[in-house]
Amino acid sequence: MIVTPDTLSLIGNTPLVRLAGPSAATGCEILGKCEFANPGASVKDRAALYIVTDAEERGLLEPGGTIVEGTAGNTGIGLALVANAKGYKTIIVMPETQSREKMDTLRALGAELVLVPAAPYSNPGHFVHTSRRIAEETENALWANQFDNIANRRAHIAGTAEEIWAQTGGKVDGFTCAVGTGGTFAGVGLGLKAKNEKIVVALSDPHGAALYNYYANGELKAEGSSVAEGIGQGRITANLEGAPVDTQFRIADGEGMDWVIRLLAEEGLCLGLSSGINVAGAVQLARQLGPGHTIVTILCDTGFRYLSSLWNRDWIAAKGLPMPPWFAQTSGRA
Ligand code: PMP
Repeated sequence: MIVTPDTLSLIGNTPLVRLAGPSAATGCEILGKCEFANPGASVKDRAALYIVTDAEERGLLEPGGTIVEGTAGNTGIGLALVANAKGYKTIIVMPETQSREKMDTLRALGAELVLVPAAPYSNPGHFVHTSRRIAEETENALWANQFDNIANRRAHIAGTAEEIWAQTGGKVDGFTCAVGTGGTFAGVGLGLKAKNEKIVVALSDPHGAALYNYYANGELKAEGSSVAEGIGQGRITANLEGAPVDTQFRIADGEGMDWVIRLLAEEGLCLGLSSGINVAGAVQLARQLGPGHTIVTILCDTGFRYLSSLWNRDWIAAKGLPMPPWFAQTSGRA
């Protein structure tokens, strides 16, 4: 018998899959790290487990305590499942603009959900500040603080980067992904550079984020907007500090959408938009490095988390995004 001893041991050690379409389009090997295969169906389970274990080790979380966090949703889902497995409660603060499926998943996991209007970071009502205040007002509570708690990126230095190195046998030339907290990008970047400093680390920034300009010309300046959930950062978080950045791309939502449509239609992979933006970035990096290189990116979460938005015909039309051809067709059958 080969049995995994408990749920938390299912976090990490995700498969690395060759993406046929992006590889054929570039003459490179483009590989996707299947983070949707984590028990909470996203990359954020890794950070959640590290943040909670780190707090326990530092005596910041007592038995039966409450974990409070502000999140676009996936970190909340990761924290709620880790909390359930370890006997803690969770209070999750989320902007009301995020997907319904994430809210329903958090409620199903037993988290107390606090929805706040979307607001800029400078506004005290922003979900991050609201979550910090709730943690301060709650007895025996831990504020997970994923943006500036570097236990987040340690999950990716010790986990994701090591796994990528082992899974490719060290044959990896480039890595790229987008930034939410920066835990994945900085952690994998630092971890891979420690193995081989020649690995090219590229930022794939969505429109509406400020990091492309920051790494290109030192100015934290955002242009445009994006509907991708979980990514798009306007400041240098503690997790991003010292991140190795060799090159940077700015990726439009439409480019990411084109790739998620193709990956679903041609390879049967149903992903969220941040994964599509990462794959579009990997294609740009492949074109920059030239054929014959191996490039790894992150498939951050499952598309089933966005059935009422990204994978809904009316929503796609309302946002003016590329339409999956099978939604555009009418079958004629009732
Ligand atoms: N994609 C999705 C769907 C996410 O929820 C997140 C986390 N906010 C990210 C990408 C980015 O991950 P990180 O926080 O490690 O930068």
